[in-house]
Parts: sequence; C-alpha cells; structure tokens
Amino acid sequence: MSKRKLTKQQTWRIEKIHAERSKRVNKRNTKAEEALLSSDLGPETEGLILSHFGTQVEVESISESDVKIATRCNLRANLGQLVTGDKVVWRANQQEGGVVVARLDRDNDLCRPDMHGRLKPIAANIDHIIVVVAAEPLAHANLIDRYLVAAETAGIPPVILLNKIDLIDESNKDSLNNLLSTYENLGYQVLRTSTKQKDSMDELYGFLGDKTSVFVGQSGVGKSSLVNTLLPGVDLSVGELSQKRKKGTHTTTTARLFHMPKGGDLIDSPGIREFGLWHISIEELLEGFIEFREHIGYCRFRDCAHKEEPGCALQQAREENKISDIRYQSFLRIKNSILENL
Ligand code: GDP
Ligand code: ZN
Repeated sequence: MSKRKLTKQQTWRIEKIHAERSKRVNKRNTKAEEALLSSDLGPETEGLILSHFGTQVEVESISESDVKIATRCNLRANLGQLVTGDKVVWRANQQEGGVVVARLDRDNDLCRPDMHGRLKPIAANIDHIIVVVAAEPLAHANLIDRYLVAAETAGIPPVILLNKIDLIDESNKDSLNNLLSTYENLGYQVLRTSTKQKDSMDELYGFLGDKTSVFVGQSGVGKSSLVNTLLPGVDLSVGELSQKRKKGTHTTTTARLFHMPKGGDLIDSPGIREFGLWHISIEELLEGFIEFREHIGYCRFRDCAHKEEPGCALQQAREENKISDIRYQSFLRIKNSILENL
C-alpha cells in the first residue's frame, strides 16, 4: 500500500473526525452501561453478528428456532473490535434493541489494512474462502496464488471455483485444465460452475452445505451472478435495507452475513471480494505456497532470493518436480511485485 503524505490541513481534519467519533463511541458506551444497570434486559444468550453499523451491530440469536430476528445492539465498553461473523453474548432490551456483553473466541478472521495501513479484522469465523476464476477473463496462476496465499495466511481453507464453464472451448480448454490440475495435485478442491447451468449450481449448493463461505476474485468472473443465484431476492432486500438506513451510518463496504435459503451462510461486501490483493510479506508469501513449506530454511544462504543462488532448496525442489514451474514462476512474480511496492 502506498504511503501518502498528508498536509497539515488534512491531518487536522482527520484528528477532528477521530475526536468526534470517540465522543460518539463514549456516548454509546454510556448508553450500553446504563441499559445494563436497568432491569429491562433479558437473559444472556448467544448471538451472531450479521453486520456492523458505526458503533452498533446487528445481532441474531443462535437458536434452533426458524424465526431469526436481527436486533440492533449497543456495545459494552472494551469488547474490542466486533465484526460480521463474530459470535457474542448479548441481552435483549424489552422495548427495543439490546446490548452485546461479550465476544466469544474466533476460529479465524479475515483482515485488511485500514486507511493508516493497520490491519483490521473485517469478518470472522469463516469456513472457507471460495476463490472464483473464470474461463473469461481467463484465469491466471498469479492471481489465484495471491488469493490462496492470503487465505493460507489467514488460516482459512481456500477452494477454487472455475465459473463460466459454458465458455470453455478448444481455445482455452487445455490451458485451463493444465492450470487447474496444478492446484488439484496440491490437494486444493476445484469446483466448476456456470450460473447458466442449473445442475452445476445445485452441485455448488451441495458443496456449500451449512458452512459459512466468502467469495473472492477478480472483477468480471461472476461473483455477483453467483451470489445472486445463491441468495435469490437479496438484491431486493439489500435495496430495502439501505432505504431504511438512509441516515448515513450505513456504507456498502460493510460486510454482511446472509443466510442461504437451503442453509449455510455467505459473508459478502465489496471490500471482502478484494481480499488477498493487498500487502503480504515475503515470509507469508513463502509459507502461503503450501508445497514450499517443507523446503523453507534449507537454502545455503540465509538471505537466499531463490533465483540463481547455489544451494537453493526451492530450486532443487523444482528440478526434482516437487515444485511445479507454474507455481515457482508465480512465486517469483508475486515476490517482485511485493518488493516493488515496499
Ligand atoms: P463479478 O464482477 O465477479 O461480480 O462478475 P459479475 O457477476 O458481474 O459477472 C460478469 C459478467 O459475466 C456478467 O456479464 C455476467 O452475466 C457474466 N456471467 C456470470 N456468470 C456467468 C457464467 O457462468 N457464464 C457466462 N457465460 N457468463 C457469466
Ligand atoms: Zn533459496
């Protein structure tokens, strides 16, 4: 991420915005504490955060009941940052709303840098990241690997989904099969869909099951089309929600958790779809190529660039076909792009 130099005027404005924001947060925290002291609150129950709006979150009870009602909640002080997908303990207010009193441990979280370059969680407790690629724009190892590395770094299992299989013909068939078999050989699952072929979408439904999924990938590969098919009617409800929330606290970049009609959840937002395209370190990059792991640390030189150095364990693994050419070249290309942006 490029570092910007701020003018005095900009710094002053940012500081002013921060001061106003923390004043608002303090006020809300006080509200939460006041509510906790009153007797209007129901018992502690477990909940799931569906979305985050300024200093409030939308919480849904985790229960067997089919009726799921989302409740706007204030946050008790010192809970840390709560994000979509977090599991919490909350208490409903008898009139309206409620208070979140604790955050349960996370299995994992997905982070991205904020405007100051600091990594911030944006969603939690994700079962798998679906890296969407397509026959058009044609899938490339470089981009797939960036997403895979980011998912591996976050500790969230990635799956590759080739969409637009209806556009496969003689011109792209071999290169796609070749590329995807590289990943299948590494143990990554590869799904194949076309939003125009119902059978393939039913298979995708089956695969997603009752898990919590996130779709990422380059623009134009069909993520919106996939999400719209999996969540019929959500276009409409998203429109309705933004009507109700016109007061300005809501932005479209907020991650939101959606329930699929046949079970399972999707967490989606424009910010999440770009996950993986921002900064990663060279160490994370190496570790993120899963077949490299067993060779890391065996190069003759500690600062080996894994290019032409004698005694490079990665190059040796490549000569022994333990690392494929596609992945090795992709590693070097991503590494160069990281070094260029430092
Ligand atoms: P996103 O940018 O990843 O969200 O991609 P979109 O969902 O906006 O889709 C980009 C374009 O691809 C649109 O014109 C879609 O109609 C088209 N598209 C999506 N899925 C498929 C598919 O399975 N087959 C074909 N032929 N086109 C598709
Ligand atoms: Zn090396």
